[in-house]
Amino acid sequence: MATCAFIMPNITGLIDKVKAGQRVDAAEALELYRHAPTAVLGQLADGIRRRKHPDGHVTYIIDRNVNYTNICVAKCNFCAFYREVGSSDGYVLGFEELFRKIDETIAVGGVQLLLQGGHNPDLPLSWYEDLFRAVKQRYPEFKLHALSPPEVIHLSRLSQLPVPEIIRRLIGAGLDSIPGGGAEILVDRVRKLLHCYGKATSDEWLDVMRHAHHAGLRTTATMMYGTLETDVERIEHMMRLRDLQDETGGFTAFITWSFQPDHTELGADHAIVEATGVDYLRTLAIARIVLDNFDNLQASWVTQGGKVGQLSLAYGANDMGSVMIEENVVRAAGATYCMDELEIVRNIEDAGFTAKRRNMHYELLGDPVYRERDVPRMLELATAREAGDTHVPEELANYPARSRAGKQLRVVPHNPVN
Ligand code: SF4
Repeated sequence: MATCAFIMPNITGLIDKVKAGQRVDAAEALELYRHAPTAVLGQLADGIRRRKHPDGHVTYIIDRNVNYTNICVAKCNFCAFYREVGSSDGYVLGFEELFRKIDETIAVGGVQLLLQGGHNPDLPLSWYEDLFRAVKQRYPEFKLHALSPPEVIHLSRLSQLPVPEIIRRLIGAGLDSIPGGGAEILVDRVRKLLHCYGKATSDEWLDVMRHAHHAGLRTTATMMYGTLETDVERIEHMMRLRDLQDETGGFTAFITWSFQPDHTELGADHAIVEATGVDYLRTLAIARIVLDNFDNLQASWVTQGGKVGQLSLAYGANDMGSVMIEENVVRAAGATYCMDELEIVRNIEDAGFTAKRRNMHYELLGDPVYRERDVPRMLELATAREAGDTHVPEELANYPARSRAGKQLRVVPHNPVN
């Protein structure tokens, strides 16, 4: 990717166009992405961020990123997290385990779970509905930001119900919003190469979000770059999101991160190394320019580290994402960055902004919790379970399994922790 130090004459007009607040088309975005110096891209993105957020606030949310199961039949080749059905280190979290995680989240000022997992054929729709209802009964104010579009599609296929009906049922049980996971690159050529075309085509991913927005849910949008896509396809991804946002206005935020290649089939087969920090900052900045109808862009410190995460605030990001508390997916691929609330706030303030807590709707909730009361420091992110804990939750016996391995587990309703 070119990052020339001088400004080519053909992009001077584009720079003026962005400065004037005008929309760029795909070809113009590509010109800027390929040829604008990195500092210029940053200035343009920062100008847009200032126009949209003149108050000088940078927000973050205290939530917990929980993966309820790692068993998955999708088998995306970029994923180091999933385990096959019947695998000895496959797991499904129990309702009680999830309640404990919520208690711990509330203790540090958290307001929601970001709940995502593998496509587990042995968890029917009723398991999700019962879980959501149980959470809402115990914690009425606590939010469930749950189930990315491919998980919704998986449930639709599993229960042979249309996507709008799945969304309606999940909302009825307590779903508050949908995370934008599973988008990868919304170009089917790339999705086929990443073995994720089967879990959701580009149109299917967008269609779940369209239905969710029509049902009144707000959602986020993501992009994982740095695999086998071209720069043209990165821009195409952004254009498809912008078009849907024009149509529904349902996206609250855009989050991009680079592919984490360690321990993945894709990384090994194609000898892919992780994208650089400059590639990340340029991609973030061009996203801010292209996605002129998105209010919020998050910094992905969990993949880029705290220092690049902080720099993101000069390249278009206005939000530091989540305190996160727990992380399993990116860790499986080798990234182990951790920032608790104090560290996130330190990075925001050191960059010259005012740190504010928010909810998923980006409504401000207040100043940092740790300044109001004592909260425990969190120096490493928790995991879904302790290593070696293979116990099967008792309530799983209440739900019919489809796989042979799942049926066998149901026969023995409770194995001791070992
Ligand atoms: S990325 Fe998600 S859907 Fe794909 S294999 Fe991993 S857990 Fe399954």
